[in-house]
Amino acid sequence: MQKSIVLLGSTGSIGCNTLDIVEKFPQDFQVVGLTAGSNGVKLKEQIERFRPRVVALLDQRAAYQLQKECRHLPVEILSGVEGLKAVATLPECQMVVSAIVGAAGLVPTISAIRSKKEIALANKETMVMAGELVNQEVKEHKTKILPVDSEHSAIFQSLEGHRKEDVSRLILTASGGPLWDLPKNAQAQVTPEEALNHPNWKMGAKISIDSATMMNKGLEMIEAKWLFDVPPDKIEILVHRQSIIHSMVEFIDGSTIAQLGLPDMRGPIAYALHYPKRLSLNLPKLDLAAMGQLTFFKPDPERFPCVDLAYEAMAGAGTLPAVLNASNEEAVGAFLNNRISFSSISAVIQKTMGAHNPKKADNIDEILLADQWAREETARVVKSHQLH
Ligand code: NAD
Ligand code: MG
Repeated sequence: MQKSIVLLGSTGSIGCNTLDIVEKFPQDFQVVGLTAGSNGVKLKEQIERFRPRVVALLDQRAAYQLQKECRHLPVEILSGVEGLKAVATLPECQMVVSAIVGAAGLVPTISAIRSKKEIALANKETMVMAGELVNQEVKEHKTKILPVDSEHSAIFQSLEGHRKEDVSRLILTASGGPLWDLPKNAQAQVTPEEALNHPNWKMGAKISIDSATMMNKGLEMIEAKWLFDVPPDKIEILVHRQSIIHSMVEFIDGSTIAQLGLPDMRGPIAYALHYPKRLSLNLPKLDLAAMGQLTFFKPDPERFPCVDLAYEAMAGAGTLPAVLNASNEEAVGAFLNNRISFSSISAVIQKTMGAHNPKKADNIDEILLADQWAREETARVVKSHQLH
């Protein structure tokens, strides 16, 4: 039996990797819906290749243009957030791959959970903003989340067959990103091109900058807390430059289980799509003898303050993680537009968090209000850090 899939964020890096797997295993998967932000050109190609019944673009104009170009095709084209939600809840869909970048993924993902879809989750920001609420919704609607993020897939795989109460620690590995070796006083001069140049992974712009600041690992710590119900003080971060060990679980008897593989997102995506079965992906195999050695370092909070900001956000709880997330998105955007320096990213987020009065994060409206507040506050703080 084919599994019917909806892919939110189909034109992105995770989206394209997912479609690559779907194309190789047509007997296992069928695409029924696709969504993207504004890239109608790529979405049209995907419509022609995968023949989904419905698609949506957030951008109304791009959707209108796509409708004109797809008149001859049997596809329904929707637009706006309502369009994204409609695709996320298609009745014939069994699994939604949540691969929109940023806070924009939250509302469609919650809609999918409420209509009892299984979620293959790449959009970590959903868990950062609303982990507790998402878990409640998953429970109430009797569905499940399968992690796509490589670290969380590694932990999920390492936990298989083990009792939750036997876990003593999660160890999240981090590549350290393209700026790991750079001294602190050189960070102010880093250009967007340098920060985007990740050594091991090819990803969208936002997560690439998050890797360079190591905020990505902070967001992943929060994601791990909600996915695996392990408190932040039992989640450790370890810099591992080669990205071969994707993360580890330590048990109370001192035994540690790790998951290894070459850095290729198709591994974790395929595991989430086809769980508990594995697909014969035919990717290059790991050759440890050729690698020679694997190295490990403690993270450096002086040069990468974003990791500690994420732990602070969790200690503050409530809407503070949503503020961390939104402020980070805005600060990363300002850096990519050459408005603030690389080293200002963490400073801007810290100031924004400091100005926030956390509320309980027990309903979606409160979380979205905090997100909006954080974006406005960050815009103010960015002005005081502006380069030109
Ligand atoms: P990307 O920028 O390559 O793609 C993002 C996708 O979301 C695109 O299809 C885009 O059209 C769509 N999109 C952007 N803004 C939107 C909006 N406002 N509304 C609706 N759709 C919108 O991003 P990516 O690298 O594929 O990452 C996607 C998610 O997966 C992120 O949350 C990221 O943290 C996570 N993730 C990515 C990787 C990776 O290897 N790329 C690994 C682990 C986790
Ligand atoms: Mg990751």
